[in-house]
Amino acid sequence: MSKLPLPPGSTIGILGGGQLGRMLALAAGRLGFDVAVLERDADSPAGRVAAKTIVAPYDDEAALAELAAVAQVVTFEFENVPAASVLKLQALGVEVAPGSEALSVAQDRVAEKQFLNASGAPTVAFASADTAEEAFAAAHEMGAPLLMKTRREGYDGKGQRWVEHAADAGEAFRALGGVPVILEAPAEFVRELSVIAARGRDGATAVYPLAENHHEHGILRRSLAPAIATDETALQAEKIALRVLDGLNYVGVIGIELFELKDGRLLVNEIAPRVHNSGHWTQDGCEVDQFEQHIRAVAGWPLGPTAAHARVEMLNLLGEEAETWRKLAHEPETRIHLYGKRVAKAGRKMGHVNKVKAL
Ligand code: AMP
Repeated sequence: MSKLPLPPGSTIGILGGGQLGRMLALAAGRLGFDVAVLERDADSPAGRVAAKTIVAPYDDEAALAELAAVAQVVTFEFENVPAASVLKLQALGVEVAPGSEALSVAQDRVAEKQFLNASGAPTVAFASADTAEEAFAAAHEMGAPLLMKTRREGYDGKGQRWVEHAADAGEAFRALGGVPVILEAPAEFVRELSVIAARGRDGATAVYPLAENHHEHGILRRSLAPAIATDETALQAEKIALRVLDGLNYVGVIGIELFELKDGRLLVNEIAPRVHNSGHWTQDGCEVDQFEQHIRAVAGWPLGPTAAHARVEMLNLLGEEAETWRKLAHEPETRIHLYGKRVAKAGRKMGHVNKVKAL
């Protein structure tokens, strides 16, 4: 294990080269670290601001060995990196944070809900099914409507289908590719919130104010933060975050997506073991933002303060919306964050803006 706290001049490895990696690399640079990115694309958003890119798939043994040789600690910006790659890095003597436990829990929606409920972080009722027959039986037992999701590798609303009648569950199972699924009871939420939190190597924790999130076609469109919420709601979210962080012996920043029910109760939808899109507002609204916080945590530095100093509306710039940068650049309240992606496909996250108002 490397000596902690990691001194400036050290190299932090990042698995994944997308925008989250880019913003982590920028924050790391501010603290005097170098970043080495492992990413299949030679021209990635993170790679273009990193000191070094190792161009290879995540499971390339030689590339993992090269990363382990240059980096004193490794983190990831994407939760679907193979658990075997993390174990390989650890076997090579480099520390990976968050650890493989957080990764394996977050990669499987069933393991995730089992962990959450066992930790005292409530979720909707659920069942798992590995075959069309099991899906059919589970849907009859739970009753429709329900939401069927693939256990693994779904994101931004992909890999999920509503089942309106229990009799349709077998067909939905096949339409999702015949892979293991989770069946979820519908959450009758009044709004979606998220809490971003961090845990340091010493077990210290820090929780950001809540964000209120609005999605379109399964993609986050807008976050308002700090969300208008009662102290009781904020306290519930904080308790959930601490249970999750401690339960996973977590190191780094985590994103926890929540449903707020009519009666004020919060349920956890899912956890992301990384910096999170709904935490981008912290860049211009908080004392220390989620990206610096994550770097501080994995480098063994003390966590920074999370208090908000402004109210922020974060808007994702999808596809060609990023081309409005000329207009946006005229707005004094608008902070622009662009990811340097070369091609603007429909729905692709090209950047975001934080519209800042005094608290
Ligand atoms: P996910 O990919 O699990 O984050 O789901 C994407 C979106 O689908 C969420 O942000 C919710 O708007 C909706 N959703 C997910 N799970 C449920 C559920 N059990 N009940 C109602 N809506 C859900």
